[in-house]
Amino acid sequence: MIVVVSGPGGVGKSTVVAELLRRYPDMQRSISVTTRAPRPWEVDGVDYHFVTEEQFTDWIDKGLFAEYADIRGHHYGTLMSSLEAVRPQEILVLTIDIHGGPSIKRLFPGALMIFLKPPDVMELERRLECRGSETPQEIAGRIELGHYEMTFAKDYDYMVTNRDLETTVDIVDSIVRSVLRR
Ligand code: 5GP
Repeated sequence: MIVVVSGPGGVGKSTVVAELLRRYPDMQRSISVTTRAPRPWEVDGVDYHFVTEEQFTDWIDKGLFAEYADIRGHHYGTLMSSLEAVRPQEILVLTIDIHGGPSIKRLFPGALMIFLKPPDVMELERRLECRGSETPQEIAGRIELGHYEMTFAKDYDYMVTNRDLETTVDIVDSIVRSVLRR
């Protein structure tokens, strides 16, 4: 089963998915391709496949992406090959932006779509500041974008407010398990 976890930037998608995977070894994370530079703690082939603009464009031309998006000047994409390999009993989790999710749903109608929502804008701002990888201008831009991104929630099956990590992971996990049992 393909599980799409999406939501505004800074809502905590990666943290929620990392905790989900830590707790449940039967879940796997889809590794996206990106042209942005790795952050100091990120590992190529683990967090993302980090590629050049030329490589990314070549893969677009060859039709290798199930979806891709331009986010703050960089390309991000999900390889078709990583989705086609999923067997029914496997759980593959995609952590992607709000535009990418609906494209996955069109290609794989059985995909489970989960939208993570921040408790409020102040919390989103605090999280982005804590992360420390954005300037104040970038943070202001991300918050404005966050309001816009909330309008995409309607394209998703479930909306989960990310108040605290433990509770969010419990909720996401119970949604996944209940859908899997159907
Ligand atoms: P970051 O640069 O902070 O890792 O990610 C920026 C945004 O890109 C996040 O919202 C993340 O979920 C999204 N993203 C990561 N991989 C993909 C992908 O393959 N496709 C799409 N559409 N968005 C992605």
